[in-house]
Amino acid sequence: MKDILDAINSDASGEDIAALEVPGSYRAAYVRRDEVDMFEGIASADKDPRKSIHVGEVPTPELGPFEAYVAVMASSINFNTVWTSIFEPLPTFGFLDRLGRESSLGARHALDHHVIGSDASGVVLRVGSSVRNFKPGDHVTIHCNHVDDQDPSAHNDSMKAANQRIWGFETNFGGLADLTVVRANQLMPKPAHLTWEEAAVNALCGSTSYRMLVSNNASSMKQGERVLIWGATGGLGGYAVQLVLNGGGIPIGVVSSPAKAELLREMGCEAVIDRKAEGYRFWSDENTQDESEWRRFGKKVREVGGDDPEIVFEHPGRHTMGASVFVAKRGGRIVTCAATSGYMIEYDNRHLWMKLKQIVSSHFANYYEAWEMNRLIDSGAIVPIMSHVYSLDDVGLAAWKVHKNQHEGKLAVLCLSPEEGLGVTDPEKREKVGEDRLTMFHRHALKNVPAA
Ligand code: NAP
Repeated sequence: MKDILDAINSDASGEDIAALEVPGSYRAAYVRRDEVDMFEGIASADKDPRKSIHVGEVPTPELGPFEAYVAVMASSINFNTVWTSIFEPLPTFGFLDRLGRESSLGARHALDHHVIGSDASGVVLRVGSSVRNFKPGDHVTIHCNHVDDQDPSAHNDSMKAANQRIWGFETNFGGLADLTVVRANQLMPKPAHLTWEEAAVNALCGSTSYRMLVSNNASSMKQGERVLIWGATGGLGGYAVQLVLNGGGIPIGVVSSPAKAELLREMGCEAVIDRKAEGYRFWSDENTQDESEWRRFGKKVREVGGDDPEIVFEHPGRHTMGASVFVAKRGGRIVTCAATSGYMIEYDNRHLWMKLKQIVSSHFANYYEAWEMNRLIDSGAIVPIMSHVYSLDDVGLAAWKVHKNQHEGKLAVLCLSPEEGLGVTDPEKREKVGEDRLTMFHRHALKNVPAA
C-alpha cells in the first residue's frame, strides 16, 4: 500500500493511480468465525471488543463490474462495530453466509473473517467495467447502503429492497481497513474542506438522522416543530441537533453529563436536559415502568422546551420508549431507528391512540438521502462531529469506548492516512465554514473526555 499512499500524498493523476498495482492483501480490522462464542456467559456490558477485534492482513477480493476498490484514508466507529464485535444480537457471519448463497460475487463475502466498518473516506483506485460516475483518483466518502438494483423493490426506496444490506455489517470488506471494495452506488464526493478523518465520520449517522428527520420517508420535520433528541451529543444525536436547527426546528436535547450539556449549548441547542442529574427512573424494576417518572420528565421537557415535542428522536429503545410515547405531543410522531438498551419495547398504548400519535420506523438512508446529507456537509451547513481520532490498531479500544458510552460524537480511525489533518483540498472553503465550528467536538473531547 506504500506506493498507493505515496501517490495519493503527492496528488498523482487519476491515470497514475489507475496504473498502480492493487495489492493481493491489505491490513484490516476483523472478527473471526471461530470466536463467535468467546463471550458466552459474560454480561453484554462486559463483552470487550478489544478481545474480539483483530488487526492484520486479509486477502483482497476480486472486483465486480459494478464495484470500486477504494484506498481507505480514514474510517469511523459505529455502534454496529460494537454489535459485530460482541456478537450481539447475532454473530454477523449468518449475514455473510446468506449473501454468499445469492450469487458468485456474493460468495466472496462468506469467509471465516469479517472485515468490519461502515464508514470511510478515501481515494478510488479502480472501477469495474459498468461504473460510470466515478474514476480512479476521485476523493470520495462512502455510505453504507449496499443494495442490488436488479431487485424491482429497490426502485422505489432502496431501503425497502429485499436484499438491502449495511456494508461492513451485513457484508464483508468493510471500511475499517486500508482498502475496501464497495458498490459504485455507495460512493459520494468527499467535501473538499474536510480532513480525511472529518470526512469519514458523517455518512452513517448523518444520513440516518437525515432520513429520520428531514426525509418524507420518516418524520419530515417542519419549521417551528419541537424535536426531543435522546443522546443529543452522540453519533446520531449530534447530527439530529444540527438538522433541526438548520431546518428551523427547536431541538430539546437530552444528555447525561454537565460536559455534554455544555457542548450541546455550544452547538446552539438552548433546551437541554441532563438525564443523569435529574435521576429519571422510568423503570422501577426490570418489568415495571413508573408513569410518575414519565410525567416528571414530561414536565421538564415542557419547562425547558416551551411545549410538548411534535417529534421524538428515539434510539435508546427499551429504557426510554415508554417515556418517548408519553411525552410526544398530541398528534406527534416518535421516530425510531434503534434499541440500544433492548429491543423488546413496552409503552402504554392508550397514550398513543387516544392522542393520535404515530410511531414511525426508520433505517439508514437510500442513496438519494445519503447524497443530500453529504451535500449539506459539503455546503458547510452541517459539520462533522468528530471527537477523538484513533489508529487502526486501536479499533478495539475505540469500539470499547462507544460500547461503554465513554465518548462524544463520532470516533474517527486513521487507516492509510499517516496523521491527522491531511486531505483538505479547499482551504478557502474551510476558512469560510469556520475552523471553530469544524473542530468543536474535537476540541471539547480533548479537554473533557479521556481517549484511552
Ligand atoms: P452513540 O454515539 O453511542 O450515541 C447514543 C447516545 O444515546 C449516547 O451518547 C447516550 O447519550 C444515549 N443513550 C445511550 N443509552 C441510553 C439510555 N439507556 N437512555 C437514554 N439515553 C441513552 O450511538 P449512535 O451512533 O448514536 O447510535 C445509537 C443507536 O442507534 C445504536 O443502537 C445504533 O446501533 C443505532 N443506529 C441505527 C441506525 C440505523 O440505520 N437503523 C443507524 C445508526 C445507529 P447520553 O448518555 O448523553 O444521554
